[in-house]
Amino acid sequence: MPSSTQDRPADPVVSVDGLHKRYGSTIAVDDVGLDVHRGEIFGILGPNGAGKTTTVECLTGLRAPDRGTVRVLGLDPQRDGLALRQRVGCQLQESELPGKLRAGEALDLYSSFYEHPADGRALAARLGLTSSLDTPYAKLSGGQKQRLSIALALIGNPEIAVLDELTTGLDPQARRDTWELIEGVRDQGVTIVLVTHFMDEAERLCDRLALIDHGRVVATDTPQGLVRRAGVGQVLRFRTADPVPDERLRAVLAQVPSVEQVDVTGDDVVVRGGHDVVVATLLGLTGQGITPVAVAAERGRLEDAFVELTRRDRQHRPGADAEPTTVLEEV
Ligand code: ADP
Repeated sequence: MPSSTQDRPADPVVSVDGLHKRYGSTIAVDDVGLDVHRGEIFGILGPNGAGKTTTVECLTGLRAPDRGTVRVLGLDPQRDGLALRQRVGCQLQESELPGKLRAGEALDLYSSFYEHPADGRALAARLGLTSSLDTPYAKLSGGQKQRLSIALALIGNPEIAVLDELTTGLDPQARRDTWELIEGVRDQGVTIVLVTHFMDEAERLCDRLALIDHGRVVATDTPQGLVRRAGVGQVLRFRTADPVPDERLRAVLAQVPSVEQVDVTGDDVVVRGGHDVVVATLLGLTGQGITPVAVAAERGRLEDAFVELTRRDRQHRPGADAEPTTVLEEV
């Protein structure tokens, strides 16, 4: 998998350049550019209202851009929509089916649209839908509807699958199962474009990501690359071998130059800071006779990277507002 945006292949399967879309006075997408490589899971990550859905609707031909170029498998989604529908599967938000249509009938119906459909029953089994195949759409739970919409996106054996808010409404186990399914689909060679506002999903699943804020791409890289670029540093978790009063612990940590944030929950202490915060904190604690135990160091989180990269982008943007970035939701 490519490790940075520098080693882009010459023929991206999705290529977007200078994309603009406005609804009345709302600028939904403002000069978005991105390339998706064949066989990767490419995430479009940003808070609600950032312009993610509008961007993928332009990729799938559901919306016409005001300006800009969109190429999917070398084709123009506006001009070549029919040809692309055979090769691109879509799971879009709020796709509603007739209430009386049973899940199995929906799979059969969608499968009839394609020249080389997947095995609907096998797909249903992989998505945990087998026992719901006779259930009318209106009677499916939110999670079952979500799984069915993923199955309908994959039923045509697409080269590219566009998945919008893949795991919204699923319980934690179903989310993990869905992630594994999507990784399996990617491993079979399908390119996945994944829209999400979940940090953990993006970090776990995506090979590369475009961070989107207020209709603009703030940065594109691997999850680790984004964390590195943002320089959001390290996180240290520990407990103390002996009880230490909260004020004393905080006073000691306040003396460590690279510590930026301290959170204490019961016996657990979490320290965030610069790239040397782990070593500096351990030295600072032991220097004061406090012995840390159950020590765990982590790299900075994608959420911290998002906030930092967005802040930098706004500083460099003429006329940018100063409002703080919406912190993305975690489950
Ligand atoms: P996201 O998928 O990141 O939540 P959207 O692309 O749905 O973002 O929306 C981007 C912006 O465009 C938001 O301000 C949203 O309110 C607005 N918007 C989206 N769809 C429409 C529409 N059909 N009509 C008017 N405004 C819209």
